[in-house]
Amino acid sequence: MGANLGDAVAAVRSALARLAVLPQSTLVKASSLYRTAPHEAQGPDFINAVAQLETQLQAHDLLAQLQAIEAEAGRERPYPNAPRTLDLDLLLYGADTIRTARLAVPHPRMNERAFVLVPLAEIAPALVPADRLQAVAHQRIEPLPPA
Ligand code: ADP
Ligand code: MG
Repeated sequence: MGANLGDAVAAVRSALARLAVLPQSTLVKASSLYRTAPHEAQGPDFINAVAQLETQLQAHDLLAQLQAIEAEAGRERPYPNAPRTLDLDLLLYGADTIRTARLAVPHPRMNERAFVLVPLAEIAPALVPADRLQAVAHQRIEPLPPA
């Protein structure tokens, strides 16, 4: 998840609270919050985090739930990569590969993004090989102190 408009820390914290109460789902783990440089995007620094859910929801239903949380947070999409109040992307869905018009999993660009790989490595180190982390080490990212 990521946010870079308004109170981005509050947006990410409240997204985590919403993930914790999704239907047929359990929030298993959440990473620290990180402050990151915009990557192929405009505007202020982002706040990013990664969460792990256990869910009975189908992937497309989970995506719809994530989009409902984005909409609730006032997400607008004026143009691609515009600054955003809240972006919730599905990175992985177990070991599934999904390629539909609405959903691509594993997320096609996750491996080029320190703001994904660093928080993901915090909660699921086995999913992030060291050479991949190394490849994005030049991208600016720093953990926020815990609340
Ligand atoms: P982005 O996250 O790429 O900046 P958006 O959040 O506006 O852009 O999402 C654009 C579209 O990407 C969504 O309408 C959604 O259908 C699609 N999409 C495809 N794969 C995924 C995924 N893994 N997670 C979230 N959205 C996805
Ligand atoms: Mg998105």
